[in-house]
Amino acid sequence: MTEQQLRGETPCVVDLSVSTLTESPEAELFTTTIESTTPESGFSGFGFSDALLKTLADKGYTDPSPIQKAAFPDLMLGRDLVGQAQTGTGKTAAFALPLLERLQSGQKTPQVLVLAPTRELAMQVADSFKAYAAGHPHLKVLAVYGGSDFRSQISALRRGVDVVVGTPGRVMDHMRQGTLDTSGLRSLVLDEADEMLRMGFIDDVEWILGQLPEERQVVLFSATMPSEIRRLSKRYLKDPAEITIRTKDQEGRRIRQRSITVPMPHKLEALQRVLDACGGEGVIIFTRTKAITLTVAETLEAAGHQVAVLNGDVPQNQRERTVERLRAGSVDILVATDVAARGLDVDRIGMVINYDMPFDGEAYVHRIGRTGRAGRTGEAVLFVTPRERRFINNLERASGQPIEPMEVPGNTAINQGRLDRLHKRLVEATQQPRANADEEALLQELLQRIGTELELSSEQLAYAALSLAIGPDPLLRQQGDDDWIHNNQRRDRDRGERGDRRERRNDRPSRPPEDNMQRYRVEVGHRDRVKPGNLVGAIAGETGLQGRLIGRIQIFDNHSLVDLPKGMPEDVFNNLRSLRVMNRELQITTAT
Ligand code: AMP
Repeated sequence: MTEQQLRGETPCVVDLSVSTLTESPEAELFTTTIESTTPESGFSGFGFSDALLKTLADKGYTDPSPIQKAAFPDLMLGRDLVGQAQTGTGKTAAFALPLLERLQSGQKTPQVLVLAPTRELAMQVADSFKAYAAGHPHLKVLAVYGGSDFRSQISALRRGVDVVVGTPGRVMDHMRQGTLDTSGLRSLVLDEADEMLRMGFIDDVEWILGQLPEERQVVLFSATMPSEIRRLSKRYLKDPAEITIRTKDQEGRRIRQRSITVPMPHKLEALQRVLDACGGEGVIIFTRTKAITLTVAETLEAAGHQVAVLNGDVPQNQRERTVERLRAGSVDILVATDVAARGLDVDRIGMVINYDMPFDGEAYVHRIGRTGRAGRTGEAVLFVTPRERRFINNLERASGQPIEPMEVPGNTAINQGRLDRLHKRLVEATQQPRANADEEALLQELLQRIGTELELSSEQLAYAALSLAIGPDPLLRQQGDDDWIHNNQRRDRDRGERGDRRERRNDRPSRPPEDNMQRYRVEVGHRDRVKPGNLVGAIAGETGLQGRLIGRIQIFDNHSLVDLPKGMPEDVFNNLRSLRVMNRELQITTAT
């Protein structure tokens, strides 16, 4: 999010109003109205310490966002607060900064507990706390979530932690077995409360609330306010200050929503066309099931895309790495199920594709909210089968915006997309000098030498270099626009036949690995329902290898053979031994 947008200075984008969420007269007492044109005064008027002001300045934050401005005064006074706001508004800092400032020194037990619906969000919030606490290096922040090592969490808690951020289930486990002492807790935050409700955590949250000291501050943030959340807030919060940041307009305007009607058998082809015509930066593709994530990922990988999968079968440590790779740009496309992608916050997502219709309107809003972040614009494309078209209205209502119909991109659009991307890459290349200056000098010398030897103009040289970068395949599609469905049908048939041939081929001795590759045996196979995509995802995640560098994969009943680049370091090999895929250790060994 740009500073300008966080501040609400772009009048057509941020519609800020701070209003009551209940009609109670007490609540109105605390109602404030902030105009988006209010002159900015930075962070200095809220009573923050110099250390925090310095940290914020170092992070490049010059002014509080609207939600921060509204929340800081009440939270600094220790009041309860209900905030209706989505991610991207700066809500994490809205609660993290005041709560950090109110920590008391010398206490051994945790003072702040944040509950978040997913591990990813818990980790992000914990990272934000750590970053904002940079001026107080002695402060300890711990993220606790299922799927990560229990014992190391217990020993960290024993050593003393000030802020705990966790998922409800794991927090409850620690409280039950006495490893998380909440007797000294001063503040509890429920972050993305509606998500916790949707994910079935509400009983756990209530149990936790019931165990906390009487005198404590409770802060509740939620993107939507279903009645269950209102009930929770009435029951457990005392005279809360209430803030609503209406971002629906903002989200709607930043995200262009479109839908494509496409029969089920043609979805994969349509998906590839959409990516080819409109895909650019990061893309998240949502599917209904884990199995579909794999099918989609395998197809896209085969077409040369950098793809990663995020589903419930992907182990936690690998999920974190996958998100990191997406953030860093070493993966461009993430194929995910809803559960695995909750709370995912990556700025560079330019497009969300709903490959399968989401379960309901709220799921849709959450999915498309993964794009259009950090002040950027985003695209959301929804695939609907002809029968599903009647549900589009619900989604439009939920997002508060029309979903425009869109055609499956034809070859003209695809070719334009390819030219646009080439244009962008070329422009970027001209603006980014190579990291290694010696290398740059050598390349320039090489150009000069070839230019002189062959008497070529600089344009001729540039053209040759561009052609080299594009590679031998044609840049543009040649065949007519309308034949994609026929091609696709034919391809489906061919694929079936190829599949049969592949089955038969498996009976024959397999060809040896390529020269630069080593063949490995791993102990997962058809009996574990493993698919090549699982192995590629797991191995790429663990080793950091790009998916396309992973060679041939052959799956047998009880084991599989995987070709990997030669020279794998021993520690990587050892890590791979214990890596679990489809719930089974790989137990990797070299195959002869
Ligand atoms: P959140 O809504 O908490 O997910 O925050 C959205 C993004 O805005 C995060 O990347 C924050 O680091 C960033 N951010 C939060 N507050 C500010 C601020 N006052 N100025 C600039 N960036 C901010």
